[in-house]
Amino acid sequence: MKPSIESKTARSILTKGTGFLHGYSHTLNPYAGCAFGCSYCYVRRMPISLFREEDWGAWVDIKENATDLVKKEIPKARKKGRVSIFMSSSTDPYQPVEHKTHLTRGLLEAMIEESPDFLFLQTRSPLVTRDIDLLKQYKNKILVSMTVETDLESIRKIFAPSAPPIHARLKAIQQLRSEGIPVQAAVAPLLPCSEQFPLKLAEVTDRLTLDDFFMGDGSGGKRTEQLGIRKLFEENGLNDWYDREAYLKIKRRLQEVFSENAIYISQEGFYPPKGSDC
Ligand code: SF4
Repeated sequence: MKPSIESKTARSILTKGTGFLHGYSHTLNPYAGCAFGCSYCYVRRMPISLFREEDWGAWVDIKENATDLVKKEIPKARKKGRVSIFMSSSTDPYQPVEHKTHLTRGLLEAMIEESPDFLFLQTRSPLVTRDIDLLKQYKNKILVSMTVETDLESIRKIFAPSAPPIHARLKAIQQLRSEGIPVQAAVAPLLPCSEQFPLKLAEVTDRLTLDDFFMGDGSGGKRTEQLGIRKLFEENGLNDWYDREAYLKIKRRLQEVFSENAIYISQEGFYPPKGSDC
């Protein structure tokens, strides 16, 4: 089902980084709402979603003035200190509507001029590769983080049926790496996967972050419980995976194919990398 899409004028575009993202001075969401509508998305339980009539995933607001705002707000923010930006915390900047709007692309162009100290670009869409020409210009002041929760399409279709296929995400990571753009695979949240998953990741990336529903939901797993994710595991005979120890099994396998300093766990994988001076 296609989401309902509206253009809106936003009052501001940079939001103070807090909670899980307190390592950033700001977060930046070019859109409100997200057409990927992942079952486990915590934004479902946030006021922005609860106050809407439509279900999460069924609506997207385009912040049409986002680029103008960022040009004004970054210089102002810089007067108060370093500007490190997490894009995006409650939407995907490369969801399908971005094909038409080029809003995220416009923001990347504007931010090259305004030059934040660091930009963390979180997505699960291969569309990010469209903007390789701009991403290159950020040099080491950017990290693209591509979510790859599993290597199994059958599992993706249970938990995130509207999100891009896994093979296309792995290919995008490989392409970004080959173009010299700092990139990581974010196995976050970890979903049931095959024995070969670590090897498939090692073929495309030198850095990865592993997170799960218990470490990464900011409440020790309570928010995930409220979303009813346990039921999805049970209905599909995946109970063994809904366990706070499950990630350790995958971590051990990852350690066999990645060096220790290439693996980040939970929050540390979403911080500005060491050496970025943020
Ligand atoms: S892509 Fe991210 S923001 Fe969008 S629904 Fe999935 S988890 Fe939520």
